Amino acid sequence: MRNTIWGRGLVVLVAMWAMIQPAAAQSFIDGRFDPAIPTLADTVGHAPATRITSPDQTYAYLNALVAAAPDRTRMVQYATSWEGRPLYYVILSAPENIARLDAVQADLANIAAGRVSNGAALPVTWLQYGVHGNEISSTDAALMTAYHLLAAQGDARAERIMRETLVVIDPMQNPDGRARFVNNFLAASGIAPAADRQAAEHDEPWPSGRVNHYMFDLNRDWFTLSQPETRGKVAAIRQWNPVVVVDLHEMGGDETYFFSPAAQPFNPNLTPAQVRAYELIGRANAAVFDARGEPYFTREVYDLFYPGYGDTWNAHQGAIGSTYEQGSARGLVFERRDGTQLTYEDGVHNHFTASLATAGAVADNPERFLSDFAQYRAANASGAAGRGTYLIDLAERRWNAESLGRRLAAQGITVLRRDGPASACGKSYPQGYLAVPQAQPAARLVRSLLDRDTPLPPDFLEEQERRRSQDLPHELYDVTAWSVGLMAGTDVTLCNSAVSGAPLAPDAPIAPMIEGTGAFAIAVPWNDSGQARFVTLALREGMDARVTDKAFAKAGREFPRGTVVFPAGSNTPEQMARLAALVREVGAHTVALDSGWVDSGPNLGSESFVRLTLPKVAIAWDDGISQLSAGAARYVLERRIGLPVTPIRTQRLARADLSDYDVLLVPEGDPSAALGDAGERNIRDFVRKGGVLVAIGDSLETFSDGDTPMLAVKREAALGREPGSEDGDKDASLAEAVEIASDAEYREAIKDERALPDTLPGALLNVVSERDHFLSAGYDGGAVVLATGTQIFTPLDRADGVNVLRFAEPGNLIASGYVWDENRRQLAYKPYLMAQRQGRGLVIGFAHDPSTRAYLDGLDLLIANAVLVAPSRVR
Ligand SMILES: [Zn+2]
Repeated sequence: MRNTIWGRGLVVLVAMWAMIQPAAAQSFIDGRFDPAIPTLADTVGHAPATRITSPDQTYAYLNALVAAAPDRTRMVQYATSWEGRPLYYVILSAPENIARLDAVQADLANIAAGRVSNGAALPVTWLQYGVHGNEISSTDAALMTAYHLLAAQGDARAERIMRETLVVIDPMQNPDGRARFVNNFLAASGIAPAADRQAAEHDEPWPSGRVNHYMFDLNRDWFTLSQPETRGKVAAIRQWNPVVVVDLHEMGGDETYFFSPAAQPFNPNLTPAQVRAYELIGRANAAVFDARGEPYFTREVYDLFYPGYGDTWNAHQGAIGSTYEQGSARGLVFERRDGTQLTYEDGVHNHFTASLATAGAVADNPERFLSDFAQYRAANASGAAGRGTYLIDLAERRWNAESLGRRLAAQGITVLRRDGPASACGKSYPQGYLAVPQAQPAARLVRSLLDRDTPLPPDFLEEQERRRSQDLPHELYDVTAWSVGLMAGTDVTLCNSAVSGAPLAPDAPIAPMIEGTGAFAIAVPWNDSGQARFVTLALREGMDARVTDKAFAKAGREFPRGTVVFPAGSNTPEQMARLAALVREVGAHTVALDSGWVDSGPNLGSESFVRLTLPKVAIAWDDGISQLSAGAARYVLERRIGLPVTPIRTQRLARADLSDYDVLLVPEGDPSAALGDAGERNIRDFVRKGGVLVAIGDSLETFSDGDTPMLAVKREAALGREPGSEDGDKDASLAEAVEIASDAEYREAIKDERALPDTLPGALLNVVSERDHFLSAGYDGGAVVLATGTQIFTPLDRADGVNVLRFAEPGNLIASGYVWDENRRQLAYKPYLMAQRQGRGLVIGFAHDPSTRAYLDGLDLLIANAVLVAPSRVR
């Protein structure tokens, strides 16, 4: 009872204290605040930065703010996450600006198109938060920034921001990830927040809140647009043409705060005017951080090279795009290695400070930001970044080329389409082409995405080679190649003249290609991602199919190996009619056949045609598996190819009944500890009984270990090392006497004999195919793959298996990007895709991940060969 009375007294005391407190507790800046604007505490029950505001509370507060200030806000839902959560942005500005918002937007579109402003435009500062859902403080900072701009009275800077600019706040770019983090955090919480970094509340289970539902890093997806969150966001940003975009993140809790200017390397498609503006914004932030005595850093770690980040993608559109990073408390309080404590409030406060400072810098220089942006767009439109045209051949991986064209169009890039037959720039295009002119406002994004290579700055490269020569790690943060034409497997050429065509809309359906006459069967040439999708969807609907591992010709038409045939004899008339409808839905390519007679190659009744059935696919999930690799593999299989997969946790694989499955896919990672001996035995047993194991990247090592490896390859040490030599003499008490006479000899003496090759940040490399194996169907001419990391494997002996795809010779290895020279020499001729029989089953190994970020859609057929087709071939 005493407790209850005391408790009531406390409530009263707290309430009185709240009343006499200055309103500063509502914002981080002292001052007067409009009581008509609800505080976070009024709406959801906790004061700013005292709790981690959940997605539902975020929605509630946004709605309350907008309801209280309808004349100064506009809230728009721009996407829905995979798990069904809405994504919103809120525009904040003075009433007179919101009243003429349509005119402002129309003039911004004018400027963005390279035309002259009619004077209605206002500069837009776009502040986006929480793209990584476990980088928690940013969303609460977004809410506080919105509150402050709406409620602060007598704050000259806030008034200037509202008068001179539009501020767009996107508070939660990844609501599924944030929900996951908040749920895990609350589930692990106790009587008081734990500062110990080892505490469960700081230590997220798999998958972390960083990623979205399909475990994508949404801050790498800007030009791939694979995820609904990104597609909606890119469409929204294109409608407002911001001059400044800031993506607010968190980094490790031992760090301080990072803002512009970014680290080298800068993408060469950024302009000198942009580099100057980064300096201006950086100084504006520095001034407010200095005034608060808060430490920060610039020009280190976070670079501007890869165009798929929130900062660089926007910079490639002419905005000043920046990443800000706050050390993360990953909870409410976190003990740093130096013994000090970082609180959630510290993080929210810093992001709030930087948000207002950045919006303030734009409000202080509205004409400069607007005219810089206008000049950027107009100069590009008139050819400042080139006057050529990229031509994408629609005869090469047609469906992928069509998809790529739509992805580019969705980014505001003008893409022209011409049906075939046509000719342009001295080349004939029997099935037509897509043309992307360089002279357009988004020219620098066009160049960055479609140029075969984006060179690293020479002085930066020189420094990296110097570092490597001193055995220091290099400073490349991400891949060095992303040429989207190469990744789609399409043929892109740059021609020097203008080319005509009709504008392509991002949502235009892909037209089917329906050829041939006859009612005997429908053939599906195995040549692009649309074909794999069509076949998979048809199998899901119960159609009967056959697949050939040999090419055939009929009526003057060539059908490549891998071609799938749906015979009328084993499908009902209704099923054949449904197939015809499905071709249109997918935009696939089919050829009607009038008989089983062929001019060359196998007849449909030949043994090289086998029955193709829908496989049951399991994917290893959880502990020991890379969440990015698992998510992308599942996404590509389910959402692009259309094949459902069942995730099974690695810890369960020891006792899982796998007899129901045809394929077990093990994404990148090191699952051996989670699997244990029992798990590995269960998988070996699954394969021996006829299952297909597909292992990716470093997971291969789990299955290539021991005396009887399932895949008889070994990972290589770096060139010039002898990893066995150290052990040879380990029992000797004395070392061999040597004379060290030079620095080079000294380095030789201290080198790590077990060192792995220097890690490859990521480059696009050419692979060559073994044309007699079904796994390379669709790749007679080889392929372009992404190689990253340190894994280089020895080739399979002929006695053990087949190196289905191998890296090209050293002189022809690099398709795009930067590769350390010894990597280039060592990777040449090494296997990319391996296959080894085990009992009645098959082990398939990919040395590098074919589904990284889902942006190598040119490899979809390879994935389909391994997952969709292999079980039918192995049977
Ligand atoms: Zn982040």
